[in-house]
Amino acid sequence: MNNEKLYREALQVLPGGVNSPVRAFKAVGGKPIFLVKGRRSRVWDADGKEYVDFLASWGALILGHAPKKIVKTLQDEAEKGLSFGLTNPHEVTLAKLVVEMVPSVEKVRFVNSGTEATMSAVRLARGVTGRKLVVKFDGCYHGHYDSLLVSAGSGVATFGIPGTPGIPEEIARLTLVLPYNDPEALEKAFKEHGEEIACVIVEPVAGNMGVVLPEREFLEKMRELTRKYGALLIFDEVITGFRLAKGGAQERFGVEPDLTCLGKVLGGGMPVGAYGGRREIMERVAPEGDVYQAGTLSGNPLAMAVGAETLKELRDKDPYDELEQRTERFVRELSKILLEKGLPHRINFIASMFTVFFTEKEVKNFEDAKSSDTELFARFFRALLEEGVLIPPSQFEAWFLTTAHEEEDLDEALERIRRAVSKL
Ligand SMILES: *Cc1c(COP(=O)(O)O)cnc(C)c1O
Repeated sequence: MNNEKLYREALQVLPGGVNSPVRAFKAVGGKPIFLVKGRRSRVWDADGKEYVDFLASWGALILGHAPKKIVKTLQDEAEKGLSFGLTNPHEVTLAKLVVEMVPSVEKVRFVNSGTEATMSAVRLARGVTGRKLVVKFDGCYHGHYDSLLVSAGSGVATFGIPGTPGIPEEIARLTLVLPYNDPEALEKAFKEHGEEIACVIVEPVAGNMGVVLPEREFLEKMRELTRKYGALLIFDEVITGFRLAKGGAQERFGVEPDLTCLGKVLGGGMPVGAYGGRREIMERVAPEGDVYQAGTLSGNPLAMAVGAETLKELRDKDPYDELEQRTERFVRELSKILLEKGLPHRINFIASMFTVFFTEKEVKNFEDAKSSDTELFARFFRALLEEGVLIPPSQFEAWFLTTAHEEEDLDEALERIRRAVSKL
């Protein structure tokens, strides 16, 4: 079956033909593609068309598609059984790697997705502090949990409004939404509500409004205020964990949160999430403590084995400097192509993640990001797809490099992008 036929059939049996909304390409127009194969930096769709892939499963892949060693691990483990529902040795192996690599994590609990990780971390923060309010930042995405899927109302610091029908206002109102990179707004929120705030949750580098870097003062103020008022600081490192450095954004910026949420790279392409932190906080999680959280398939042996192989590879090979150099060169060349065509843009970049914003404004928060020309982005996306370059189907997402994107793959991608842009 080709893309077109698959999409027609998918629409009959899946809402919008997909299992996650952005896959439907609504923000960029055109019909979604169905992917059937991935190898290293490339993917192939159901029509047999090949793409250089900068989506990398939303950043989950850092070693590229189907690395031989990892596929072998998966095959070997599958022979031994797919799930036991009791504890298996790979859980211990992966937990030890996480504790070794992520500076602030002393104990960790595995779950099945990033959403579960943030949901459970917020519950734990509320349980530990006995408080109700959650602070989040406009434009940060933390999965689709009710308390975190809220939007900012009008104004600078507002109690959240439901991000979707199905979330009661009463729940949304327990979340305070502040602008990113605004230490004064944070200070004001703590002055007014400090004694009621259970936690502040943040993407320490934002990836879900497009890549937006934190100002040092923003992260430091957050650490200082949460400590002063007895609230917990949660770093949602579902994207940045094992992506910015072995120890994620907290290593790179030298700021240690109380709790860390992990996902994406952690599972190496398998559905894995985790939350972890200081010993005395994690010891409140059941059965050691009183805050309940559980999962039938949590710690699944296949997922844990693949995660462990992935982290071992990252720990032992330490590919981060080289990845960053390659990304920097790629971003520079990409910018040149856009400049030659006279397209105003900004590229925010760190480590192996970046976003091309079609705006002239420096992008430091969601308001800035929203000044982008999303119509131009949509045309850019479709032109790239046509030429065989796959990027995220939205202006407000991050592009990723993997260790499988070698110089010649990047040169080929640049050549395809040049062709695409010349036709815009
Ligand atoms: C992807 C993402 C999530 C949600 O993870 P899922 O596995 O999609 O549930 C949470 N937080 C951040 C920062 C993410 O990028």
